Amino acid sequence: MTAFWTEADFDDHELVEVVRDAKSGLTAIIALHSTHLGPGAGGTRFWHYAEASDAMRDALRLSRGMSYKNAMAGLPMGGGKAVILANKDKTKTPEMLAAFADAVDALGGKYVTAEDVGISEADMAAVAERTQYVSGLPVEGEDAAGGDPGPFTALGIFLGIKAAVQHKLGKDSVAGVHVAVQGTGSVGGGVARLLAKDGAKLTLSDIHTDRAEALAAELGAETAAPDAVMSVACDVFSPNALGAILDDAGIARLDCKIVAGGANNQLRRPEHGPLLAKRGILYAPDYVINAGGIISVTLEYLCRNDKAPSDINEVRKRIALIPGRLEQIWQESDKTGASPDQVADRMAQELIGR
Ligand code: NAD
Repeated sequence: MTAFWTEADFDDHELVEVVRDAKSGLTAIIALHSTHLGPGAGGTRFWHYAEASDAMRDALRLSRGMSYKNAMAGLPMGGGKAVILANKDKTKTPEMLAAFADAVDALGGKYVTAEDVGISEADMAAVAERTQYVSGLPVEGEDAAGGDPGPFTALGIFLGIKAAVQHKLGKDSVAGVHVAVQGTGSVGGGVARLLAKDGAKLTLSDIHTDRAEALAAELGAETAAPDAVMSVACDVFSPNALGAILDDAGIARLDCKIVAGGANNQLRRPEHGPLLAKRGILYAPDYVINAGGIISVTLEYLCRNDKAPSDINEVRKRIALIPGRLEQIWQESDKTGASPDQVADRMAQELIGR
């Protein structure tokens, strides 16, 4: 038996709790990486893991990621994550969710949960019936923070791309700038629409080719096959689909000057950040540029708990800080020679007192 604190992904996490409820069959792990800036916030993943140690690794890695992301978004939240270990058939019962909700509640607000892979809006609404420590619940009205995070994430990425274009290409606008967008779902579709409005030249790609084609027809864009989009000659490659695409082969294929998009965990391994820099490609660290959604759902949570009305203008104001944060990272990177992902990690660690 190996102890989880000897895992490479264990980073002095403040608390790692294994939740077992025999009656409902629930097995879950709640990992709190840091509560230095506030309650550990991060979603709950419902997933079938081949080995229990894979679930532990995911909880450790993802909760640390949330510490960095929340810190760099300027939010008064720490980092946490929960994983529920599903069986092969991914059987999910109300009793299981209730037992999970009670475990979250028992932490008394140290951990704030949300939706993640395998958990639906309805699942989270059920959890929220038993605990107040849930963010990202549906909201009513157009002026409220919260609700679908996709459009807010897209807005932050759009502003981040503009900042990258200014930094790397010295241009004040994206008019005529060629952006290849991988993934035209909630985030990528939103980014493409905002870029099109400002006159960018777009190449769109999605494994659901009809989705990319319909959006391309609407925006007057080109399309590329999913296996070709990473080698399109362009100014900006914007990954908005999968993680871990920036590996040795992926980076070798790129024919762009900037990588800036919303997909989580784009770098396959830590050495791939420096490799991008070595190729002269400017990288916008994913967890910094894609923070728009988390800003929105967190403000909704904070306002709900303070019984204050949430305000979409405050969300926009905070999302507008993303370009400045990126510029700070790039300037530090230019000055020190460390790659932008390394600079961002260091800044995040400092913010959480590590
Ligand atoms: P989504 O499911 O709405 O869209 C993803 C799109 O990518 C889909 O249209 C899918 O068909 C396409 N896709 C999948 N594999 C592809 C491939 N190999 N090539 C091209 N297209 C492919 O998801 P989303 O909410 O838009 O999220 C996109 C990414 O951004 C994910 O990595 C997600 O973790 C990350 N992210 C999302 C948010 C948010 O607010 N939704 C916030 C932060 C990060």
